[in-house]
Amino acid sequence: MALKTAEKYLESLRKLDLKVWMFGEKVQNIVDHPVIRPSINSVAKTYELAQNDAHSSLMTVASSLSGERINRFTHLHQSAGDLVNKVKMQRLMGQKTATCFQRCVGMDAINALDSVTYEMDLKLGTKYHANFRSFLRYIQDNDLVVDGAMTDPKGDRSLRPSQQPDPDMYLRIVSQNSDGIVVRGAKAHQTGAINSHEICIMPTVAMTEADKDYAVSFAIPSDSSGITYIYGRQSCDTRKLEGSSIDVGNALYGGQEALVVFDDVFVPRDRVFMCREFQFSGALVERFAGYHRQSYGGCKVGVGDVLIGAAAQMAEYNGAAGASHVKDKIIEMIHLNETLYSCGIACSCQGHRTPSGTYLIDMLLANVCKQNVTRYPYEIARLAEDIAGGLMVTMPSEKDFRHPEIGPYIEKYLKGVAGVPTEHRMRMLRLVENITLGCAAVGYRTESMHGAGSPQAQRIMIARQANLEHKKKLARIISGIDREE
Ligand code: SF4
Ligand code: FE
Repeated sequence: MALKTAEKYLESLRKLDLKVWMFGEKVQNIVDHPVIRPSINSVAKTYELAQNDAHSSLMTVASSLSGERINRFTHLHQSAGDLVNKVKMQRLMGQKTATCFQRCVGMDAINALDSVTYEMDLKLGTKYHANFRSFLRYIQDNDLVVDGAMTDPKGDRSLRPSQQPDPDMYLRIVSQNSDGIVVRGAKAHQTGAINSHEICIMPTVAMTEADKDYAVSFAIPSDSSGITYIYGRQSCDTRKLEGSSIDVGNALYGGQEALVVFDDVFVPRDRVFMCREFQFSGALVERFAGYHRQSYGGCKVGVGDVLIGAAAQMAEYNGAAGASHVKDKIIEMIHLNETLYSCGIACSCQGHRTPSGTYLIDMLLANVCKQNVTRYPYEIARLAEDIAGGLMVTMPSEKDFRHPEIGPYIEKYLKGVAGVPTEHRMRMLRLVENITLGCAAVGYRTESMHGAGSPQAQRIMIARQANLEHKKKLARIISGIDREE
């Protein structure tokens, strides 16, 4: 059976020889590092739930390649129902971890690459789809984590890749021979890169012929020679070094981003999925972004469920649950959260089959989904902070709380309603802080803005997909200017 246990996943990470840097030092043991481990636990949860009787039917699926039961995070969506189940799985994962669980970028990359390599081969006579399918079969059979890596540093945004003063600002092919290609550049903000077995590179924008050295896609083991990972800081990250379970807000789970540098990295020919076919770069970017914009209609909603729960719980702990404005604010949070979910489900239900057999979401609805995600989690977070109270950002540490001399003051003066221990109130406040301002805020707040493309990227796609001419015609017919044909 292809499925790995969470323990086997941890074991497999220990075998990787990754070059990881954090706080100016090389990290020798990523698995047990207190800053990194919560992010590993989040990915491990995708393995654990796949073996949990209550969730295995959602978390696993029969592979379209082998017929074996595989983790849905490695699956090619074979129907609109599969697309819906993907979003449901992500909501579940968000509920269980209250953070970014990282494995979606690889899932979205493989689904985008499957249809694009198929269509590229048909049109150009290239042979990339077979390379891609054999890579994916290896991923599915071994239940591996893939880091889908798209975002280049981009340098001067007004210049195309080939016009940049520094040619490495977009990842590019620097040389090629009969065995493969050598690439140089970097991918920024790479979610889950250090927790992945393989890294799958895609271009970050549509390319012109002048940029063809930048039209490159491939997958290689994450510990390949020449790859360096520089760990991304998160707000309040050093609290994880203090050993306090209260102060971190979410002691078990976290997300992870890194700057990944490719310093003349060799990629064998059979792992190359695009090599200068600039005409297909735009389609790959659009499809990956579309899938990831759909993803946010699941993962952010699951984290939102935890945040709404924390706000409602805090209202009770504060003795404010009966106030009509508090009840109304919670209703508003639920309304906003379920609106995001509705978009994630809708773009999935309206998905369609591509020539490779893999299903693609409705692009207009997926972009509307993500555009809403750039706004609603901010409003949900604002309401959660409103209900939680200012103590969320002024509260003393766990060390003070546990101190024999001053702890009793905290116990006495930070108490809310009778019957609820002060510690519960502190834990819940720290959880709200973690999601809205702390480590999980990377995934819930700022990533809601910029992840899967900044708001303007969705507006361009919405304009492109909306068929405004059709709407104008409808108006001309109704107003009597045109006749119905
Ligand atoms: Fe998955 Fe959401 Fe994290 Fe993206 S932000 S990897 S969709 S959990
Ligand atoms: Fe993301």
